[in-house]
Amino acid sequence: MIRIARTASAPAILADGVPLVQAMNEAKKANPAIAGTKTKPFKFDSSIYGHQDVKNALKALQHEKCAYCEGKFLAFCYGDIEHYRPKGYSQQKSGGKTIRPGYYWLAYDWNNLLLSCELCNRARKRNVFPLRDPTKRADTPEKVAHEKPLILDPAGEDDPHDHIRFASNVPEAITLVGKQTIALLGLDRSELNGLRLTRLGHVEALYNVVRLADKLGEDTTLVAEATAKLQAFASDHSEFSAMIRDSGYIS
Ligand SMILES: [Zn+2]
Repeated sequence: MIRIARTASAPAILADGVPLVQAMNEAKKANPAIAGTKTKPFKFDSSIYGHQDVKNALKALQHEKCAYCEGKFLAFCYGDIEHYRPKGYSQQKSGGKTIRPGYYWLAYDWNNLLLSCELCNRARKRNVFPLRDPTKRADTPEKVAHEKPLILDPAGEDDPHDHIRFASNVPEAITLVGKQTIALLGLDRSELNGLRLTRLGHVEALYNVVRLADKLGEDTTLVAEATAKLQAFASDHSEFSAMIRDSGYIS
């Protein structure tokens, strides 16, 4: 996971969600119990938050990678528009009690949306949104600032590198939030570890070639080109760049 620099301007289509959130607020005010149901107006319009404009904006922002695992999955599946704070309901842990309403007022909020692979979203995170103190869970926008989530927001204030580091191809937590994030999203799942190991092997091979060519005084232009290619593996555009940055192969 790397930090995602979110653009200030949201895709225009998300403005269509504003009256829907207003309707939910009004309905909740009139009858608080309705916020705990799946009936209208507490139904969500995926044609707004899941609009192609939103997806395209997130694809660009995230360099066509999953916000969580950094896998480039778009050649194989569509991917999900993921709500960092779940819109319909939330759970403190997987299989835990369902807490309604969810963060419905963030259903169409640009700052709450990410693009993720289906495994990170549907098989792992789903509606789980763990908090350090579950009694502080927000049921209004004003209370969100008091929450201390136990899952990293790649587009949030914290740099994921301050919480998760890589030992070779395997992510390791250096904080409690990092630990919970790895566990919840399955960032150390065997399929990911396998893909990362392959990529790390390519980077290591290129690193060794560059080092050897440099030592032998080989064509400096070729060495420079190979060095640039090596460094590109650590760029935001590159798959699993967080691992490469921790690898020691990039100066
Ligand atoms: Zn993923």
